[in-house]
Amino acid sequence: MKIEVAENAGFCFGVRRAISLALDAAREYGEVYTLGELIHNEIVVDRLDKKGVHAVDDLSMCRGRSVVLRSHGVPRKVEEQARKECRAVIDATCPFVKKIHDIAGSLPESAKLIVIGDGGHPEVKGIVGHAACRAFSCKDKAELESLFESGEIGSADKVAVVSQTTFDRSRFADLSEQVRERYGCVEIFDTVCDATAKRQESARGLARRAALMIVVGGRSSSNTRKLAEICGQYCKTVFVSCAAELPMQALKGLRSDSIIGITAGASTPADTIKEVHEKMNKEIINNNENEEDFASLLEQDQSFNRLYTGKRVKATVVSVSKKEAVVEVGAKQTGYITREELSNDPNAEVEDIVKPGDVIDAVVIKVDDSVGTAALSKKRVDAALGLEKLEAVKESGETIEGNVAQVVKGGVIVIYENTRVFIPASHTGVPRGGKLDDLKGKSVKFKIIEVSNERGGRVVGSIRQANREQRDAERAKFWETIEVGQKFEGEVRSIENYGVFVDIGPIDGLVHTADLTWNRVGHPKDIVKIGDKINVVVKSFDPEKKRVSLTAKDPEDNPWTKFTADYAVGDVIKATIVSITEFGAFAQIIPGVDGLIHISQISAERVADINTVLKVGQEVEVKIIDIDEEKNRVSLSIRALSESKPSESEE
Ligand code: SF4
Repeated sequence: MKIEVAENAGFCFGVRRAISLALDAAREYGEVYTLGELIHNEIVVDRLDKKGVHAVDDLSMCRGRSVVLRSHGVPRKVEEQARKECRAVIDATCPFVKKIHDIAGSLPESAKLIVIGDGGHPEVKGIVGHAACRAFSCKDKAELESLFESGEIGSADKVAVVSQTTFDRSRFADLSEQVRERYGCVEIFDTVCDATAKRQESARGLARRAALMIVVGGRSSSNTRKLAEICGQYCKTVFVSCAAELPMQALKGLRSDSIIGITAGASTPADTIKEVHEKMNKEIINNNENEEDFASLLEQDQSFNRLYTGKRVKATVVSVSKKEAVVEVGAKQTGYITREELSNDPNAEVEDIVKPGDVIDAVVIKVDDSVGTAALSKKRVDAALGLEKLEAVKESGETIEGNVAQVVKGGVIVIYENTRVFIPASHTGVPRGGKLDDLKGKSVKFKIIEVSNERGGRVVGSIRQANREQRDAERAKFWETIEVGQKFEGEVRSIENYGVFVDIGPIDGLVHTADLTWNRVGHPKDIVKIGDKINVVVKSFDPEKKRVSLTAKDPEDNPWTKFTADYAVGDVIKATIVSITEFGAFAQIIPGVDGLIHISQISAERVADINTVLKVGQEVEVKIIDIDEEKNRVSLSIRALSESKPSESEE
């Protein structure tokens, strides 16, 4: 014999979510109260009660306390009253039920709403209580016909039809079609929940092949009763609320190749299904000595118990909220991933990381079968993948890029593909004493210098190394492409007595004092200061010694060109003495062009000490006696002026 559990059985999404929200609230507020039992299953209600989730019948019993609205939802007025009177309201209404509330609430006042479902069921009461127009409920043909005959619908402008979420879809289709036939303008919303439809379909499919179906669930659960009703149409069916109720005599008379099917209502927890499954297994093994069957039964059991801590799964995101993402993992449990387990980035919001429909890799970190939930982590899978990736990055020496998420003691944290990379302060590229906070939120390029698997993985990076490598590459390219005459805009980095060093990108070049300006310079600091931006031209370079000689003199401003255009040998001009040496005095003709008055050209008389005749700053009349265009030299003479004047006797 073979035991098969229906593909869709046990807690539905809405029930798991409601239980999870209620337990969270009980932890936060100490205890909470649900308006009616949270779930139609005595075992679960008992367990919840022990964990601080108590069921009460009336809102008046919740005044000043924290109240949980169940997955069925409540009428709008009840919700409003709860918000006024209760300490806190935890709305665990299933999102699928909420959708029907929205439809009902958006109808015009003149419309009429027919809810196909059991008028006594809290979900239907809640839907009717949210309608913005008059609303009626009908669960079968007889009720629908009496509604028609009552004339209540009358000549409504618009008739809308919705369904209780757990209603049988084909019956809903029949009944809603009858409404359409009766009234012309009808809008039909198929709001049957897929979770219910899927459970019913799975149960039907399994019952067709099975010799015996075991339906597990609370007797007050209408959807479980409905499953039993469906299965009963195809094979022998037993309805139990727990393993202890299993009627083992039902196995008698089954053939050795029979299939025994198990299904469960939306309010049946996974562990109750598991207990039933295990008990059936033991019973069959006791009745069957075939080793092969024993092994296959064990295998079935393992496949049933699919989720366990540490298991890697593909998870589909169902919904996201500020605190967590709810995911479907193809198991009996509802998966959830808290914001902290989604990403390593403390600044990331849940909706920035995942959106409904995303399929992600996650690892199970806790399974709680008592409430049918499984806590998962995405960041741990990402971190494991990230470690492998970063190990490869380290090996290849590649430079990667990430955002600085946090400033921590001794450095910063960069997030790379959801993996935390620690960059020590000394590797951030921020000078000692600088502010690491300035890096926060910035994208930085860095290298991986250490990857270790210790304590869940530690990765260390270096921005400094990446910067250094980039500089080296730029330098290599600089030496390959540099040319004499190449122009740069550089920044003065330091000033020396003999010139200034200018940052022209990958390296600093030297502008000798004489190359700073066409004019005569005393000290470079008289011309520039550190941080000044100046235009420079490459005069020469030595790739071996890594030296570049620059000039800041613009050829277009070359005063020598101006001088040769305006002056000639024989011209008598005014010049200013700018310096005196042993062999003569230099006199400025125009800025940037000085001429030499040799000591022998100062006077017809012998001059022993030039300083007795000339002074710096003195303006003198001179004659240009020679121009050496190759060497850019001008010779001047005062003596030539007195010689060219006629003597008194000649006069
Ligand atoms: Fe929500 Fe569907 Fe479950 Fe009802 S059966 S609680 S609508 S998921």
